[in-house]
Amino acid sequence: MNTLLKNILHNSKQCDILVEGNKFKTIAAANTIASVDAKVVDCSGLAILPPFYNAHCHAAMTLLRGFADDMPLFKWLSEYIWPTEAKLDDELIYAGSRLAILEMIKSGTVFFSDMYWRRTNTIRAAKEMGVRATVGVTIAENLDSLTHVEENFEFLKNHKEYESDLVKIAAMPHAIYTCGAKLYERCAQVAQDEGLVLHTHLAETAQEVSDCYAKYGKSPVALMADVGALGKNFVAAHCVHIDENDMRLLAESGSTAVHNPMSNLKLASGIFPMAGAIKSGMKIALGTDGASSNNNLDMHEEMKIAAVLAKVNDPEVLPAEMALQMATRNAALAYGFDAGEIAEGRLADCLLIDMNNERLVPNYHLISNWVYSADSRCIRHVMCNGKFVMENGRVEGEEDILAHANSVVKRLV
Ligand SMILES: [Zn+2]
Repeated sequence: MNTLLKNILHNSKQCDILVEGNKFKTIAAANTIASVDAKVVDCSGLAILPPFYNAHCHAAMTLLRGFADDMPLFKWLSEYIWPTEAKLDDELIYAGSRLAILEMIKSGTVFFSDMYWRRTNTIRAAKEMGVRATVGVTIAENLDSLTHVEENFEFLKNHKEYESDLVKIAAMPHAIYTCGAKLYERCAQVAQDEGLVLHTHLAETAQEVSDCYAKYGKSPVALMADVGALGKNFVAAHCVHIDENDMRLLAESGSTAVHNPMSNLKLASGIFPMAGAIKSGMKIALGTDGASSNNNLDMHEEMKIAAVLAKVNDPEVLPAEMALQMATRNAALAYGFDAGEIAEGRLADCLLIDMNNERLVPNYHLISNWVYSADSRCIRHVMCNGKFVMENGRVEGEEDILAHANSVVKRLV
């Protein structure tokens, strides 16, 4: 199915954009693409922008939204989250994943990287709802049986069975406080052999870093370098407590750090060193983290917080265009999707936003308005891989998704 977006605002010009299959085929001046075999959408009053790519989340944690707040990370994890997560079953993960995807689509996100449990249910939800996802094989040897850890490595070797154009599998050792160096080494090897992304939590808290020095005599990033984890396929969530040498290691290896400002602030983990990170040349993407430490999955909010948090000492550190790129193309590329940019030949993912929304008026500079003023109410339609996953603000089956989540959560908490 091809789609012709007629008379849409793109880079300050009125354009026609032809989507052929799952890619942007032609971008031309308005009313110059005629008589093609395509569904024609009149986009007068709409602008096209890249959608969001959520580089780090725990989708089904939507079910724990608002369950335990206002405490530090380790207390929150060990006393509240881990004991409750032990009760999660397939149906709960499926319901929580669908709720997460619904929330993400409605706030303009078409991709999420998921580190969680009972992954086949999240894979099913992502495939049914037509979004992109990199679903993790989460490995946490301190929390899991040896047998289960071995099953996870088996799953990684058979990853192709579960993948599609939109859904990929990744190796996700949870963190250096739940996995040892040997296990990281093994994960890095499997990821390299199988061509997979390797994703982990890293240097999230000052405690994690000092424990790492006590145990290994080096920083978490240096430990990752030693076990062979760093590289273009390595994506590290948080990286709040990294020094200049860590930044150099990340930059030189082509690794990506995922900044999760809302979660880091809410759990008092600290503030990502944006100025130094940009200066080092390391790749930076944005993520929401889970809905129980955020407490939503709205990447627009994350982008705005990242942009203003970076300005606390210097208003020029992170301009709006760069913040948008971190929330879009940087994250797509980190996970291997040639998307996140409205350009011929790229994967056809986009947002069509309403230029008559009060938050976008007047329109001196659309990207500034989008980053600093807008919110997800400005989004009219969302396209992923050439297909609309939200039209006129509606996602197919949304009432059922909400009712299902509200009903199953009664057995969890
Ligand atoms: Zn996380």
